Amino acid sequence: MQTKEYLQALMQNIIKKDPAEKLFHQAASEVLTSLEPILEADPKYIKYAVLDRMVEPERVIYFRVPWNDDKGLTHVNRGFRIQFNSAIGPFKGGIRFHESVTLSSLKFLAFEQTFKNSLTGLPLGGAKGGSDFDPRGKSEGEVMRFCQAFMDELYRHIGERTDVPAGDLGVGAREIGFMFGHYKKITNKFVGVFTGKGPSFGGSLIRPEATGYGVVFFAEEMLKCKSEGIRGKTCIISGTGNVGIHTAEKILQMGGKVVGFNDYDGAVYDKEGLDQEKLAFLKDLVFVRRGSLKEYVKKFKSAEFHPGKKSWFIPCYAAFPTACENELTLEDAKTLVNNGVKIVCEGANMPCTPEAVDLFQSKGVLYAPGKAANAGGVAVSGLEMTQNTIRLSWSREEVETQLKKIMRNIHSACVEEACLYNKPGDYLLGANIAGFKKVADAMIAQGVI
Ligand code: GLU
Repeated sequence: MQTKEYLQALMQNIIKKDPAEKLFHQAASEVLTSLEPILEADPKYIKYAVLDRMVEPERVIYFRVPWNDDKGLTHVNRGFRIQFNSAIGPFKGGIRFHESVTLSSLKFLAFEQTFKNSLTGLPLGGAKGGSDFDPRGKSEGEVMRFCQAFMDELYRHIGERTDVPAGDLGVGAREIGFMFGHYKKITNKFVGVFTGKGPSFGGSLIRPEATGYGVVFFAEEMLKCKSEGIRGKTCIISGTGNVGIHTAEKILQMGGKVVGFNDYDGAVYDKEGLDQEKLAFLKDLVFVRRGSLKEYVKKFKSAEFHPGKKSWFIPCYAAFPTACENELTLEDAKTLVNNGVKIVCEGANMPCTPEAVDLFQSKGVLYAPGKAANAGGVAVSGLEMTQNTIRLSWSREEVETQLKKIMRNIHSACVEEACLYNKPGDYLLGANIAGFKKVADAMIAQGVI
């Protein structure tokens, strides 16, 4: 069978088996399309049915999470852990608590994670987990009881050499602390079973900043290829979570100008740009007070608020989507291109729709997929695992230096693979092929398992 037909049949089979899993179809289709040249070049991948195996998770854990609210009323949520691929290391990936969480969304995230983790060059398999529970609007006691109930089931499936979860949307240091504490209590073991822990109990310095910082290091590498840099460039960000805020912080440190960002309520357009005082206000607003960006424009008169809008209408040189999947549509991409955007670097997982990506690539906009550009978070998780194993903590400088090196290596791997297959500048193809190769070769070497 020809490669194209093989890939088409595989994709049709994926859709036939789980017709409702649209997000997973989207992620799988993007990967399968870019792998065509490598399958063509090396017949062993089809011979050993590597891709047929890769699109099936090794294991899916699906469980009930009952918990009591502050009034004593009982609620039930769904819990999941998708252990997608452990060919190159223990399962690794975040836990997401958000009302949008479904089996399909976690399958897409765990699939992406497999490629992302491979790109880091560290021995990390791919996984993702979570629940349709939303910590927003819940009391601290409710969040803690939920995390404990979630861990009452998940603990038996994870372990520092088996599966190491971390944070994601809705799961930050607080939730990880509660889950780690409960795991320790149930198992009577103090081990590095989570990453993103507090620094006083085994967490790595720079882990909270790592994804955002890594995104900017990656963008800088991309711009270097064009003899450019972030310094002096106008940037916009969507999302003011952990990734968005630390992306802004690193842009500022590197001399760029952040003029736009948005949250659930709307977008802020601040022509004068963020400075240290505004960033400090933003961090306190988001991380401590968990408030709305409306407060930012009340405090800083240079800024306008656009209710219900995302940042994409704001003219910029560089755009950083850091919120969630499919947040940047073809229409948004058209607006960005018309306003002269030169680079789009994904801090979130699959935030640009396939049509938006096609437009960027056809218009010569530098585009980096999340699995490459946002791999800094899981990379520092890998460094946290190493520190836990050797029972040492590295300094901020040490971790940041290693992070920068890893982002540079990922960038080089993408560029090299894209060139090898005659698609220079195609970071999507480069990332998919580079991520695939390592996992696929390990799978072949380990036999049919
Ligand atoms: N959830 C993050 C990601 O999407 C981090 C995962 C981790 O540190 O294990 O990569």
